[in-house]
This record gives sequence, structure tokens and C-alpha cells, in this order.
Amino acid sequence: ASVFSNVPGAPEDVVFALTSSYKADKDPKKVNLGVGAYRTEEGKPWVLPVVKKADYILVNDDNLDHEYLPILGLESFREASVKLILGANSRAIAEGRAGSAQCISGTGAVFTGAQFLSRHYSVKGASCYISRPTWVNHRAIFEGVGIPVKEYPYWNPETKGLDLTGMLAAMDSAPSGSIFLIHPCAHNPTGVDPTPDQWRQIADVMERRGHFTFFDCAYQGFASGSLDKDAFSVRYFVERGLEMFVAQSFSKNFGLYSERAGNLTIVAKSPTVKNRIESQIAKAQRAVISNPPAYGSRLVSLVLNDEKLYGEWEKNLSTMANRIIDMRQVLFDELTRLGTPGKWNHIVDQIGMFSFTGLKQPQVKVLKEKYHVYLTDNGRISMAGLNSKNVKYFAAAVDDVVR
Ligand code: PLP
Repeated sequence: ASVFSNVPGAPEDVVFALTSSYKADKDPKKVNLGVGAYRTEEGKPWVLPVVKKADYILVNDDNLDHEYLPILGLESFREASVKLILGANSRAIAEGRAGSAQCISGTGAVFTGAQFLSRHYSVKGASCYISRPTWVNHRAIFEGVGIPVKEYPYWNPETKGLDLTGMLAAMDSAPSGSIFLIHPCAHNPTGVDPTPDQWRQIADVMERRGHFTFFDCAYQGFASGSLDKDAFSVRYFVERGLEMFVAQSFSKNFGLYSERAGNLTIVAKSPTVKNRIESQIAKAQRAVISNPPAYGSRLVSLVLNDEKLYGEWEKNLSTMANRIIDMRQVLFDELTRLGTPGKWNHIVDQIGMFSFTGLKQPQVKVLKEKYHVYLTDNGRISMAGLNSKNVKYFAAAVDDVVR
């Protein structure tokens, strides 16, 4: 018998399983609204023009080699990533208390921060509170490093908006020094973000209760099209003097999904604390990946550190963000035109890659089986999967399943 005969099979990942079913579907009308990856008006993946340029520069750079990067990654990438999220004039940077580690994209940055907290967080036995609902990996990552996971209310099904009261109450009653995993913009899966005034109320409770903020920022620039606007919450928390981790992904805003370019930004109370955190993360990272991959971080670094390329990147970002914002409007208009039962304003009010439609699981099932439209069971749709050729078909399908 195998020494592994008692290993039970694990369930397939739902989003990746959805992509497989979509690929296997032979119907020409099929629509994939599952995976959170940008698609063009033609329904194709998009290599950002600025990334193509950076690619060309890298390929023709005779000085580049394939030596190991330092354990904490490419310095120019790390510094530029910190500046990108905190703002070039951030007082945390000026005071030398902002640090970083290059990680295996956003997922790796969340893991790296979580692993550090599991070993060194001063409040023993502290739980990590994640929003209900949230990206499925949050629970998996924190439980994986042995941190108990609890939830705070986020989505109000009645208003299809933010449950601010529930969120603040949960923060207020959580044991002081709890860890809160917060989406700074383009909340996945709901597409619902707090307003600046609501962020102020959230920061008040976080500060008063001595909680630790762990931001997971996977969509900077992708939500509104503005890098600064999407970083508002993070910068505001820094202004308030709070310590925090910020996981940054360059998968969506650079379209570098498979290159695994990410960063963990650390904002500590002092340079000494920041240095110690970095040193512990370096020690831990050595035992997991030894050192991070170079290609994606070189591309990102090149663009972030060159004024002209940076400007082009901002234009590419607007192209993606605006196409999604347009699709929201077209979908909303079409549902309104059809007189589809229910209120649909949340489609245009929500922001970022996803919309949380409010469709229920039996309706999702009909969408898949009858209409070949693929979306997660919680009714989340990836807006990027819609384009002018399939949006009317999708709206008609929704109209049918809700009647
Ligand atoms: N965090 C959130 C909320 C996400 O939605 C995603 C991607 O879907 C990620 C992190 C990480 O993505 P990646 O590991 O590709 O950077």
C-alpha cells in the first residue's frame, strides 16, 4: 500500500474549475465572467502597450543577467512599490519607517505578512478578521499559518452596499489588538468601497481599539483609473499614524498575472522596528522561496522609475478602468430597458473588477446550464468578461432567470 493511501482528495479551486468548464464548453455563445482577469472589447487578454515597450527594453539590455536577486527582492522595484502605494511625499517614507519585501505577487505578499504575524505579533492568540464576504484565499492563507480567522460584516444584501454599522460594531467588539484584513479599494467580490468619511470612522475604531491593519491592495489604479484615488485609504491610515502591512499585487494593474510581481509594504512606528521586521521576513522568505523571481519586478521597476513610461502606464490603466465602467453602464441600461425585476443601480455604483449582482445560486445554475454563462455561485461577475458583443445576451439571460 502507498504511504499516502490515507490522503483524502482536496476539492478543486472554484474559480479555476469554472475556467476549465468554460474552456470545455463548445457553445459559441458562452461567456466567462468567473476569473478576475482583464479582457479587451474582443474578449481577449491584453498585454499592456507599456509592458510591451518595457519587455523590448529588457530583452535588449546586454547588462542583464540571471543571477539571484537579494532575498528581499529587487531594490528599485521595492522602493518604487512603496512610493506608489504610500505616495512619494509620505511621511512614513521620509521618517525611514516604511519598508518592504518583494513577494510572489499579491497572494505571496498576504502570505508573507500572515506568516510574520503568526510568529511575531505581540498579541498572542489574536484572530484575523476578514470581511464577509471576501476573496477565498484570505481565510485559507491565515488559517494555513495557524492564525484563527473570524469575520466582520461588510455586505448588506438589502441595500446591496456597505454594512458600515455592522463593520464598525464588529471592530468595536473585537478583542483589542486584533488583526483586520481590509480591502483598500475595489473590494473583491462585492465592488463596494467605503467613502472617505466612512474610512475616517473605520480608522477611528481601528485606532481606539488598537487593532492592526493589514491592507490587501490588488487593484490600485484599476478601480477608478487613478492611482492616487485608489490609494486614499492606505495613505489616510498612514496620516493617522497607524502601523500596517499592505500587500500589493501587480497582476491586474500591469496585466502581469503569471509573472507573480508583488510587494509587501510595511509601515512601522520607527526605523528600528521596520528594520527588524524586514530582517525577520528575509529570514522566513529564505526558507520558503530563497529569493523572488526577477522578470516581472524588472518590468514594473522600469515603468515605475521612468517618467515617460509611467505616464503611458497611467493611460493604459485608464483604458482598462474606463472600459469596465462603460460596461457597467451598458449592462445597467440594458436591464432597465428590459424592465428586469429588481433594482440594479448597484451595478453602476460598485467599482473595480467585480460586481456582486445579488443573483442567487439556483439562478447562477440556470445561467450556466441554459445560457453557458459562467460566474461564481455567490453571484459575482467579472465585469471585464463583458463587451459590446455579449452584454445584451447576458442581460437577457439575467432577465430570464430573475423572472
Ligand atoms: N487579493 C485580492 C483581494 C485579489 O482579488 C487577488 C486576485 O484576485 C489577490 C489578492 C492576489 O492576486 P495575485 O496573487 O495574482 O497578485
